[in-house]
Amino acid sequence: MTGLSFNSHNIETLRGVGPQLANKLKKLNLHNLQDLLFHLPLRYIDRTQITPIAGVQAQTDVVIEGKIMVSDVVFGRRRSLVCRLQDHTGTTTLRFFHFNKAQQERLKPGTRLRCFGEARRGKAGVEFYHPEYQYINDTDNEPLETTLTPIYPATEGITQTRLRDLCGQALKKLDQLPINELLPQSSHIGLKQQLSFSLKAALILLHNPPPGAALHLLACGEHPAQQRLAAEELIAHNLSLLRLRQKIQQQPSPALFQDNTAKLTFLNQLPFALTSAQLRVTEEISADISSSTPMLRLVQGDVGSGKTVVAALAAVQAIANGKQAALMAPTEILAEQHRVNFEQWFKPLGIRIAWLSGKIKGKARQIQLQSIADGSAKMVIGTHALFQEAVEFNDLGLSIIDEQHRFGVHQRLALRQKGFASQSKPSERSIVPHQLIMTATPIPRTLAMSAYADLDCSVIDELPPGRKSIGTLVFNNIRRNDIIHRVRAACSAGRQAYWVCTLIEESDVLEAQAAEVTASELQLLLPELSIGLIHGRLKPREKVELMNSFKDGAINLLVATTVIEVGVDVPNASLMIIENAERLGLSQLHQLRGRVGRGSQESHCVLLYSSPISANGNARLKIMRETNDGFKIAEQDLALRGPGEILGTRQTGDMHLRIADLQRDGHMLPEIKNIAENVLINAPQNVDALIRRWLGHSDQYAQA
Ligand code: ADP
Ligand code: MG
Repeated sequence: MTGLSFNSHNIETLRGVGPQLANKLKKLNLHNLQDLLFHLPLRYIDRTQITPIAGVQAQTDVVIEGKIMVSDVVFGRRRSLVCRLQDHTGTTTLRFFHFNKAQQERLKPGTRLRCFGEARRGKAGVEFYHPEYQYINDTDNEPLETTLTPIYPATEGITQTRLRDLCGQALKKLDQLPINELLPQSSHIGLKQQLSFSLKAALILLHNPPPGAALHLLACGEHPAQQRLAAEELIAHNLSLLRLRQKIQQQPSPALFQDNTAKLTFLNQLPFALTSAQLRVTEEISADISSSTPMLRLVQGDVGSGKTVVAALAAVQAIANGKQAALMAPTEILAEQHRVNFEQWFKPLGIRIAWLSGKIKGKARQIQLQSIADGSAKMVIGTHALFQEAVEFNDLGLSIIDEQHRFGVHQRLALRQKGFASQSKPSERSIVPHQLIMTATPIPRTLAMSAYADLDCSVIDELPPGRKSIGTLVFNNIRRNDIIHRVRAACSAGRQAYWVCTLIEESDVLEAQAAEVTASELQLLLPELSIGLIHGRLKPREKVELMNSFKDGAINLLVATTVIEVGVDVPNASLMIIENAERLGLSQLHQLRGRVGRGSQESHCVLLYSSPISANGNARLKIMRETNDGFKIAEQDLALRGPGEILGTRQTGDMHLRIADLQRDGHMLPEIKNIAENVLINAPQNVDALIRRWLGHSDQYAQA
C-alpha cells in the first residue's frame, strides 16, 4: 500500500514523518498532503501581543509580562507554588502544582517573566494554572509570534507543534497539490459572498492567520475563509447523499397508479375524515409512486398527527396495482398495534395481511412466510425481523418504515440495502420497491436538510380535530404524594394513567428493577387500583397482552419503562407521570407525553424531577411546559444537545463535519441544496473529488 501510493503527495515525503508517525496520522484520517490541508484548526490563540494584566479576561488565552513580587509555597488542599506577577497595570496569580526545588528558586521575587496560558476566574481576580513561561530581561527578548497560533484536532502522540509543522510544510507545496476549485462559477449565485473567497486563499489564511485577522470571527467560525470552506463541506455532504439517491433511482420501481375505487372504499369505512394535511401528503405520495422512478420520501408529523393512515393509503394504492406492501415497525407493541388497525381497515377491502414478529414461530411462521412468497398476502406487517431474515416477497412494490428513533444516514442505508437484498427475487433484482419512511417525531429543519438530504420530505402539520391540548406540570419529587392523589382521582373517575420510570443507564435489567420497585410501592399506596407493569424484559407476547388489558380498561394504572415511548394508542389514558424527567431529552419526553391526549378528555402530563437540577435540565422542562408543538421542540432539542445527540450517539460519525456547524451554518442549507444539484448537472466530473476531499476515506454514504 505505502509502496504504491508513494508519490509527491504522500505524507511520508514530509520532513520528520516515518512509518510510525504516518500510522498515527492515519488515525486522524490524514493520508496525504491534501488531507493535511483540510485538517482545519479547531480554534486559534493569540500570542502576537502582550495583554496588560488589568485587561485580562477569564477564559481567554493571553500573553502577559511582569515581575514576580511574591513567591511562596502554600499548603492548601494541594501543595502549590504561588507567584504574584505584576506589570504597570495590575497583578495576577500564577499557580504551579508540580514544581521542583530549582524551579522554585528561579521563580523568586524580582524575576521577570513572560507567561502564556489560559486565564481562569479565581477567588481574587483571574489566575493562571501552570502557564508556559520564559525569563525576560530589558534588552534582547525572543520576539512574539507574528501570526495567530492554530490549535488542531489532535490525537495521542501527535503534538500541536508537530501538526503545525506538518501543515506548514504541506502549505509550502500547495501549488503542486491537486487542490483546485471544484465548484463551477455558475453554481455560486446563492452563496456569492461565501464563495467569493478562493479555496487556496482560505486554506492559507486558516492555517496561518496573519496578525490582523479577525480573531473574534475566527473564534466563532464566521470568518469568510471559514464560511467558504464550510459551504463547500456542506455541498460535499449533500452531493454524497444526492449521488446515493441517484444510484438507487437508476433502478426502476413499478408505476403504481391511483385507483379511485379502492381509495374511496378505504376512506368511506374510516370512522373519521382525513385532515387537509393528511390529504395533501397522501397526494404527494400518490404522485410519487405512480411514476417508475423509485420514491424516497420521508413523512414527518407530530405525535398523533395520523401518519399511519397515510401509510395505509399508500399501501392501498400499491395493492390496487396488484403489488405487495410491507410495513416495518420498530417494536413488537407497535407492530401489533399496526396489525390491529390494518386488519380493521383492510377487511372491507378484502386484503389479506401477513404478520411477522418475534412471537410468531414454527408452523405459524411458515404459513405467514408462504403467504408472503406466493403473494396471497398483499399487506405484510412486522418488526425488524421483516428485513433481517430472508423473507421472500412475491412482488413488493412499496416498503414503509416506521422509525422509532431517527436513524442516522448510515443505519438507514444499511436497512435499505438489506431490504432490497431480501425483497427481490434474483430474477427481479433490477426492480426496487418505492420507499416511505415515517418519523416518530419531527426532525429539526437543518437536520432534515442535511442528514436526510437523500429523501423528499412531506410534513403533516395539523392534528386531527377535537384533540385537547395536554397540560404539562413540573413537580419536585418531594411532592410525590400529591401526584399519587391525582392518580387516584383520575382512576376513580374512570380514566387511566401511565407511570413512566426512567433510568439514565441504558440497562434493561436495572430499568426493569426500578419499575418493579415503583410498581409495588404504588400498589401499597393505591390498593384499590389494578396496576400493571410493563418493561423491556418481558416476552413480546406478555407485553402485547398487558397492553391489551390496559386498552380494555382491566388495568387502571400502567407502570412502564420507556418501552411505551413510541406509538402506543390508548385514548382513555389521560394522565402520565414521568419520573426523572430532567434526565431525558426533549424529543423523548415529547414522544412519551404523546401517549396521552389521544381521547376527548382533558389530559395531563406530570414531569417529576429531583433536585439539584442542571441548568440544561431545567431549560428542557421549561420548554416542555411551554409548548406542545413537536416542531418547536425538535428545534430546541437541536439547540440544547447538538446534532450528534439527536441523531443518536452511534450515528454521530455520519455527520462528522470538519468545519461546518449545522446550527451556525444552517441558514446556508437551502442554497447548498441548489448548488449541489447544479454541480451534479454542470460539473459531474468534480463530484467524486469533492466527496473525497471532504468525506475522505469515510464516504460511508456511498459504500452503504
Ligand atoms: P402518529 O402520527 O403519531 O403515528 P397515529 O397514526 O397513530 O399517529 O394516529 C393517532 C390516532 O389518531 C389514531 O387513533 C388514529 O386512528 C387517529 N386519527 C388519525 N387521523 C385522524 C383524523 N383525520 N381524524 C381523527 N382521528 C384520526
Ligand atoms: Mg405512529
